[in-house]
Amino acid sequence: LTQLFRPLDMLGMVYRTIRQGLIDMAAMFRLIDTEVEVADTPGAPALVVRRPTVAFEDVVFGYDPDRTILHGLSFEVPAGAHVAIVGPSGAGKSTIARLLFRFYDPWSGRVLIDGQDISAVTQESLRAAIGIVPQDSVLFNDTIGYNIGYGRPHSQGPALHDDIVRGARDAAILPFIEALPHGFDTEVGERGLKLSGVEKQRVAIARTLVKDPPILILDEATSALDSRTEQGILDTLHRVSKDRTSLSIAHRLSTVADADSILVMDHGRLAEQGTHQALLRRGGLYAEMWSRQQAERDRNLEAAE
Ligand code: ATP
Repeated sequence: LTQLFRPLDMLGMVYRTIRQGLIDMAAMFRLIDTEVEVADTPGAPALVVRRPTVAFEDVVFGYDPDRTILHGLSFEVPAGAHVAIVGPSGAGKSTIARLLFRFYDPWSGRVLIDGQDISAVTQESLRAAIGIVPQDSVLFNDTIGYNIGYGRPHSQGPALHDDIVRGARDAAILPFIEALPHGFDTEVGERGLKLSGVEKQRVAIARTLVKDPPILILDEATSALDSRTEQGILDTLHRVSKDRTSLSIAHRLSTVADADSILVMDHGRLAEQGTHQALLRRGGLYAEMWSRQQAERDRNLEAAE
């Protein structure tokens, strides 16, 4: 009988692995719109993260051979630091995230996590170390419990119900789930219950908590949330980022003021770097973007009155 079940077990594992791969890809959909181009080098070791530092060393990269997007980018993120990446549209913010997740390899230069070149380690170990909270999450047509629990790397075995409940609680979506007639067994996705954008984002946060990665990439929503909802999500993200290294791609500056450091990208170059206060004092690109956004906010407030 075991002879019969072993292949079935294997099939189950393969299925789970493929399924997980697919949703990771789907989650990154906004960050990537082309085929994956990288492969593990034969015999590549697993990434070992003791101190989750991130470093870009003179990274040059473009999507097309005749157009350079990042022109020798260097920066370091200490373990546990929260770094925000800001800059005008097309400056290269999402490209940084795509390179860190190794959807592409740099043309030259290196991307390092805890001192290890990410192109020299297995992709599986790299992706297990990084959690992504995208602005638009994709859900499986499955139960809400499955959607939260699947995030655990398969090498660690299936997520326990307790982990799923804890993830949901910390992502502040537990009361919502418990109020559903079928609770965690509620089917969601296309054929099931439709969740709002904020609920989906909270599911993505809960999933990330179950995955428990040392490094986070937060792709901040561009869509206008009302300020109370936005503050609620930000508070949750702050809690989730505690004790982890995080890189947030920020489209609005109002949310980055308390980052440990802000990278200001402009045309694929690091134009400025510093804290919110230091960058305001500097009176450069960041200060200019800040006063423009403040003026816009004031106009919107006036219009609403
Ligand atoms: P936004 O704030 O609008 O999201 P961004 O700062 O994140 O912008 P990126 O998405 O990193 O900018 O894009 C940087 C540049 O690379 C842009 O000029 C963009 O057109 C180009 N680009 C992005 N993805 C691709 C791709 N898959 N193929 C070719 N060019 C691309």
